[in-house]
Amino acid sequence: MRVARVALIRLHGRLVGATGHPRNPRPPWTLAYLEALLLRDGRYGVRFHDQLTHPLPGARLAAWLGRWAPQVVVLQVTTLDLDALAEATAVIAALPERPVVLAVGQALALGTLPGVDLCLPGEAEERALGVIADLDAGRPVAPAGDGPALVEHPSRLPPPSWDRARLAAYPMHYPLRLAARARWGHLLTGRGCPGGCLFCSPVTRESYGTRLRLREPGEILAEVRALAALGVNVLSLDDDDFTASREHVLAFCEGLAGAAPGMRWICHARLDDLDASLMERMAAAGCVLLRFGVEAAAPRVLRILHKTQREDWEDLAKEVFHRARALGMATTALVLLGNPDETLEEAQRSIALARALQPDMVQFHYFTPYPGSPAFTRWREHIPPAAVPSLYHYRAPPVNLSRMSDEELAAIHGAAYRRVLLRPAFALAHLRTYAPFYRHNPGVLLDLLPQRSAR
Ligand code: SF4
Repeated sequence: MRVARVALIRLHGRLVGATGHPRNPRPPWTLAYLEALLLRDGRYGVRFHDQLTHPLPGARLAAWLGRWAPQVVVLQVTTLDLDALAEATAVIAALPERPVVLAVGQALALGTLPGVDLCLPGEAEERALGVIADLDAGRPVAPAGDGPALVEHPSRLPPPSWDRARLAAYPMHYPLRLAARARWGHLLTGRGCPGGCLFCSPVTRESYGTRLRLREPGEILAEVRALAALGVNVLSLDDDDFTASREHVLAFCEGLAGAAPGMRWICHARLDDLDASLMERMAAAGCVLLRFGVEAAAPRVLRILHKTQREDWEDLAKEVFHRARALGMATTALVLLGNPDETLEEAQRSIALARALQPDMVQFHYFTPYPGSPAFTRWREHIPPAAVPSLYHYRAPPVNLSRMSDEELAAIHGAAYRRVLLRPAFALAHLRTYAPFYRHNPGVLLDLLPQRSAR
C-alpha cells in the first residue's frame, strides 16, 4: 500500500463539552510531534484536525476525510472520547476506500479499541512514523516493545509546526498579572515525571513514565524564539512537572531573557521541588503563574495518594504560596476530593488549607481512577466497564472510593468553591489585581462567569 496522505485527528467526547471543561485545552502533543515528523520526512501529505477546538459533526468529518482521502488515519483518544471514537470509526468505515486506522492516547490503557487496526500506546509519535513507513513500503509492521513507547531523546524531534491561527486555537483562560492582550504559545520542554501519584494518568498529564527526559536548553530556546516571532508573549510550559530538575529550570531562566525579552510564562510545579532562591530566579525570568497539585492536607490521605510521605505538607504549601505571592507570581491550587478512604473531616481539612493558601485560583477535582493510572489497576474490579466513559475529574465519580456518601461528597465539592472563591473579599481582591488584564482580555473574565461555565 502506498501511503501518500495521512490524517491526524484528536477526538472530543460529548461529556467533555457538556461540563464546560477543559477550559484550557493543550495541544495534542503526540499528534503535533507526529505531524512534525511526517513533514520532516517529506514523503507524506499531512492534515491535522482537532475535534476539541474545532468540533466537526459526523457528516462534516466524513466530508473532510472524503476530500483528503487518506490512506492512514491516526486518532488520539482518551476514555472520555469513546463515543466520539465509535462515531469516527463508523465514518471511516463508510469511506469509499477505508484507510488504516491507528490510535494513540490514554484510551489504549483499555487494550484494543473497536474500529482501530493498531493501537500505539505511550509517547507514540516515533513509533507511529515507523508504522506508517512500514505500511508505505509494504513491509510487515515492526513489533512494538513492551509497555508504552517513550521518546528517549526529545531534542531530536522537530518542533511542532505552529502558525498564528493554530496557536490561537489553544488560548489559556488564566488571568495574569499582565496589562496586555495575552497571546499564548505552548512548549513541552521535557517528558516524564518522577512523582508516581496514585491518580495520575495521561488524561491529566502530557507524557508517560517516571524517568525525566529533558530537551537541550539551546534547542528549547530556539523554539521560544520562533514562538516569539509569531507574536507569543506568554508561554504555557506544558511539562507534567517543569520544576522536577532544578538545573533544567535554571538553564531555561538563564536563556529566556536573551531568546525572548519580556516573555511571560506559566508552569506546573511541585511544592517540594522549590526553594527560595529557585523561586526568585523563576520570578525574575518572567514566571507569572505556578500551578500546584496540593491535592490534600491530611498526611494519611497524602500517603494513600502516593503524593508525599512528608508530615509537614501543609506548612510547606503555606510557605511556598506565601513566597510566590511575595515575589509577584500568581498561584493555582489543585485539590482532590473524594480520595480513597478519605473521611469528611479530612476533605474539610483540604478545603481549609486551600483557603488558607490564598491562591489566585483554585480547582477542586474529584478523585478519578482513570484507566492508565495506578488507581485503575488497584480498583479495577470496583469499576464496571460501563462506568469508564463517565469517569471525569470535573464530575461526581460513578465510583466513590471515599468514606463519604455520594451526597456528602457532592455537597462538600459545591461548598468548597463557595468557601474559597465565591466570597466578596476574594472577588474584590481578584478584580483589583486583574482589572488591567481583563481590560485587555475581556473574554477571560466572561469565561469565568457562571452562565458561561455551565455550557
Ligand atoms: S500528579 Fe503531577 S506530580 Fe504526580 S505523577 Fe502526575 S504529573 Fe507527576
